[in-house]
Amino acid sequence: MSKAEFLDKVKEAGVVGAGGAGFPTHVKLNADVEYVIVNGAECEPIIRGNQLLMEKYYQELWQALQLVVEELGASFGIIALKNKYQKAVAALEKNKPTGQHYELFMLDDFYPAGDEQVLVYEVTGRIIPEGGIPLLVGCVVLNVETLLNVLQAVDGKPVTHKIVTVSGMVKNPVTIRVPLGTPMGELLPCAGGVGKEPFEIVEGGPLMGKIVAEDDVISKTTGGIIVLPAQHPVIVSKRQNVQLSLLRARAACCQCRMCTDLCPRHLLGHGLEPHKIMRAVASRPLWEAVTTAFLCSECGVCDEFACPMGLSPRNVNKMLKQALLAQKVKNPHHNSPVQVQRLRQWHKVPGRRLISRLGLDQYDIPAPWTGEPYITSVSIPLQQHVGKAAQPLVEKGDIVKAGQLIAVIPENTAVGANIHASMGGKVTNISSRIKIVGFEGGDGYEASLGNC
Ligand code: SF4
Ligand code: SF4
Repeated sequence: MSKAEFLDKVKEAGVVGAGGAGFPTHVKLNADVEYVIVNGAECEPIIRGNQLLMEKYYQELWQALQLVVEELGASFGIIALKNKYQKAVAALEKNKPTGQHYELFMLDDFYPAGDEQVLVYEVTGRIIPEGGIPLLVGCVVLNVETLLNVLQAVDGKPVTHKIVTVSGMVKNPVTIRVPLGTPMGELLPCAGGVGKEPFEIVEGGPLMGKIVAEDDVISKTTGGIIVLPAQHPVIVSKRQNVQLSLLRARAACCQCRMCTDLCPRHLLGHGLEPHKIMRAVASRPLWEAVTTAFLCSECGVCDEFACPMGLSPRNVNKMLKQALLAQKVKNPHHNSPVQVQRLRQWHKVPGRRLISRLGLDQYDIPAPWTGEPYITSVSIPLQQHVGKAAQPLVEKGDIVKAGQLIAVIPENTAVGANIHASMGGKVTNISSRIKIVGFEGGDGYEASLGNC
């Protein structure tokens, strides 16, 4: 298979980054690199999908990695995962392809080990320039589920499902394979349901995830849903509005610089110093400090772990980025650091302590595989990825089969992704989502009638 044919198959199948913002994978893989790095860090606490995938599909994972390494002409294929994922480590180690091209790389348990910039430095010792991507230092980073989706794509199978951990205050946390477009609320019974206490649902991890409604749906980038009491500190922190963060920054920042000392991007040698940004917004704008907000990954170490005053440099950075972009100001910072901060090794945030600090100890328990959910309709978003929304190919009233292409990348669009039906049935509505209602005996319907 030529590289062009390979990329076409990945594009056709609608593969996007399953662990991040959803960058289309056929665009990402259209590169020549030295390293293909598989991100098995499972960065956020109490999410389990990637660990379980590595335990179960270790052979397919190596097979997929060999395929990508060959197609991209890379020299090395590395699976990076945490030491503590002992079962996955043992399975992957035992089945490792021979030769020096393929390795496991062991990470300590720290946050955010799965941040692409952090991961590339840990594995290769190369520092990605400020505001840059792994390609600039000869690397491409793929999430575990993304890589497995690439292997499926080569077999002509499109992306129709997502691996999701359902955890938090549910009775029995689970990890589950879910059709795209499934309402989040429908997954709660699969995990034994929630008690009577008022709750909120967070899509993604406790640090970088966002509060969603029960009728919001699973997309290609949903890593997990975490149910937490409505007054849990993680929820209270996510509800904090940006203007309030700004006022509090002005009133209470003592310039202790803990946020800077623990900031993972600052520790990599980037020019981001959140304490200076806080000073700048509290007094008069220091332009140089303010524009470094562009270098913030919004990882949450500063507000959820570092700041003794409960302030949120992350929220302030988010607000500044929006304000600067609205004024058409672009990131002016593109330095290439030659070395990381001297104390970086000792300033990494340990995963265990982060979980305690977030008040999540009681929820840090296994979330084993369970059967598929009982789903009778899905609402599949046309925008599940970076780039332009997909354009519908179907009309209201059409009957579709599971796996059928239902929306495509618009013409003359460089960055976009195809969308396929995650179950067979009748198209009953098209807006920013395509709603499909299954009917008894219809293609894909039986498959969607799960057993949990
Ligand atoms: S850690 Fe908090 S108080 Fe200290 S400099 Fe940063 S924002 Fe200010
Ligand atoms: S969220 Fe805070 S700790 Fe994370 S990169 Fe931004 S400033 Fe640094």
